Amino acid sequence: MTVRLAAIPGDGVGPEVVAATLPVLTAALDSQGEALEVTELDWGADRFVREGAAMPADAAETVRRHDAVLFGAVGRPDVPDHELVWGLIIGLRQQLDLAVNVRPVRAFEGVPSRVRDVEGVDLVIVRENTEGEYVGAGGLAHAGTGHDLGIEVAVHSRRVIERAAEHAFTLAEQRRGRLALVTKSNAMRHGYPLWDAVVREVGERHPDVELEVVLVDAMAARLVQSPHSLDVLLAGNLFGDILSDLAAVLAGGMGMAPSANVLPGGSVPGVYEPVHGSAPDIAGKGIANPTACLLSGAMLLDDLGRSAAAESVRTALAAVLRLPHHHTPDLGGTASTSQLAAAVLHEMESR
Ligand code: NAD
Ligand code: MN
Repeated sequence: MTVRLAAIPGDGVGPEVVAATLPVLTAALDSQGEALEVTELDWGADRFVREGAAMPADAAETVRRHDAVLFGAVGRPDVPDHELVWGLIIGLRQQLDLAVNVRPVRAFEGVPSRVRDVEGVDLVIVRENTEGEYVGAGGLAHAGTGHDLGIEVAVHSRRVIERAAEHAFTLAEQRRGRLALVTKSNAMRHGYPLWDAVVREVGERHPDVELEVVLVDAMAARLVQSPHSLDVLLAGNLFGDILSDLAAVLAGGMGMAPSANVLPGGSVPGVYEPVHGSAPDIAGKGIANPTACLLSGAMLLDDLGRSAAAESVRTALAAVLRLPHHHTPDLGGTASTSQLAAAVLHEMESR
């Protein structure tokens, strides 16, 4: 069988890490007697500058003709961020109704972290992906009067909380059976109390999962102080975004954090992407860490039922990351993006 993949390399380091990942996914599928067919889409900053939009109006339809999407990153210093972030990745998440963004954080043996005692850390953040603080509701009032008001309205609906919670409980059942809901119901009076109530209700259908409700500020400290106490975290859009960058540091930084945008049980292709952005500070140097993108590719293979191929990528990567001479500069090494990826390919072929 053939996996039909849409690749959106995007901007900055996006094309560098996607280019490093595609041959690895091809080899992983090939070892299982399958093929990868890639449609490369030129969406991102260049397209925005050329045509006034980061992606075409029928982008969602194009994506639906594929089994999955591998997305690099968007963002370029000379283009307003919202045109690319809203015009592409948030736009895709909303148009395809990709309910959750699943962000695993795993400390690989041999990878240095700025946080102490992270060995064995293995947690997953399930971030609600379509609502909350990122719906774009609100507006500006009294503009230019010196009393300007920026009003940003967060929206939380039962249906959307339920489907995110259902996914998080199911994931916890497949893992160590623990779910921490992250809210801020002591200070916010409407949206997060609804989360607390709805998630407790969904929890009644999952009696084997131990649920705790943690305030987001306390969770920020706990992620650093006792990350081993955490299994699955469920958070709204904003808190999930912030906590996943923090949690990535446990595993060695932004270059290590993969993610999957999915509609569980839906017929929509998932969008798989590193958590990081376009990293303009290192773009063009060939030194971006491809691990986050490679692990996103492994999640993609898993979700398409190609678990043997996915496991071969992860096993090879784990073996390569044990050796510091394969590390990219963000991990304290001197290897390039392509050297790390070539080591993974070599490791896969020699197994
Ligand atoms: P960033 O994630 O691009 O970079 C943050 C830091 O992490 C930088 O120091 C960068 O060098 C480092 N880093 C990121 N990826 C790395 C990798 N693979 N290997 C090694 N180091 C890596 O975040 P930022 O600097 O806040 O944003 C840059 C641009 O990316 C902005 O335009 C922003 O809007 C955009 N952005 C896009 C996405 C996305 O496409 N999903 C996500 C976040 C930010
Ligand atoms: Mn983010």
